[in-house]
Amino acid sequence: MKLLVTGGAGYVGGVVAAQLLDAGHEVVVLDDLSTGHADAVPEGARLVRGTLREAAFGVLDGAGFDAVLHFAARSLVGESVEKPGLYWDKNLGESLALLDAMRRAGVNRIVFSSTAATYGEPESTPILETDPTRPTNPYGASKLAIDTALAEYARLHGLGGVSLRYFNVAGALLEGGRVQGERHTVETHLIPNVLKVALGEREKVMVFGEDYPTPDGTCVRDYIHVVDLGVAHQLALEACEPGVHQIFNLGNGNGFSVREVIEVCREVTGHAIPAEPHPRRSGDPAVLVASSDKIRSALGWKPERDLRAMVADAWAFAQRAR
Ligand code: UDP
Repeated sequence: MKLLVTGGAGYVGGVVAAQLLDAGHEVVVLDDLSTGHADAVPEGARLVRGTLREAAFGVLDGAGFDAVLHFAARSLVGESVEKPGLYWDKNLGESLALLDAMRRAGVNRIVFSSTAATYGEPESTPILETDPTRPTNPYGASKLAIDTALAEYARLHGLGGVSLRYFNVAGALLEGGRVQGERHTVETHLIPNVLKVALGEREKVMVFGEDYPTPDGTCVRDYIHVVDLGVAHQLALEACEPGVHQIFNLGNGNGFSVREVIEVCREVTGHAIPAEPHPRRSGDPAVLVASSDKIRSALGWKPERDLRAMVADAWAFAQRAR
């Protein structure tokens, strides 16, 4: 297939673009490089630099694309609270420009990176796709609005859309000569920050909150390996059906606390990794764990890599990327 990958210069988009290339697809990456890196675009893909508003129509029109995988987004919860307008503009506004360009070019299949942040504070665990969506920050709200737009475009314009709601993505791609991993300029995620301590780039890891109603008092999250996530995208692409919008959660279905993650990082790196308690980070729910039963039964997806594999691959990538 000929595929447009928006945000293919970022972490998840870059890994999935590499997997799609290795599966034999033709890949064009559209990225404005506002948070991505040109050298994260996998070898074999063509990079078009520009925003979705500026470039999507020029890239798609008459070029014979079969589908779009849409990763391009702003994704920092804290930044979204400070600059909600930026998130509505970059996430929703540019996604609408992309959908418009797709319609005009006659491309009617899309796989979209949605998020667990669309659910907000869950009423029960594990979270099902049918659970209420009450995002607690503009990042989650903007992603939910895109899910809603996809549903309407499916119903009214015959679009075939799949929204994949990611829980906590981790790990790296280190297969077939590829080296693709997480390299954010502003790093807020737990695993890469813990590994920075093992690399000697930071002295201690900050543990945000030890008084949550969880077994060890720290937040519990559902971590998924980026390679397993990529496999789900390939299945989702095949499952796009004109006129239908489908939503699937993507997680392992197991929760790990911040302390448990740090302990696995200690075991994998052999480093003591000092940890220091800090106040809660605002907006962090105590427990976020996915039910991925729907994608398992509907698309036959199954996560193959556990937390230790995620940390080991993230560690191998972090050492190589130094
Ligand atoms: N966290 C932490 N120290 C850090 C980064 C994150 O204690 O340096 C905690 C954070 O408060 C949350 C969990 O680790 O409870 C996962 O955070 P992350 O930012 O990786 O993902 P999120 O669940 O926010 O999408």
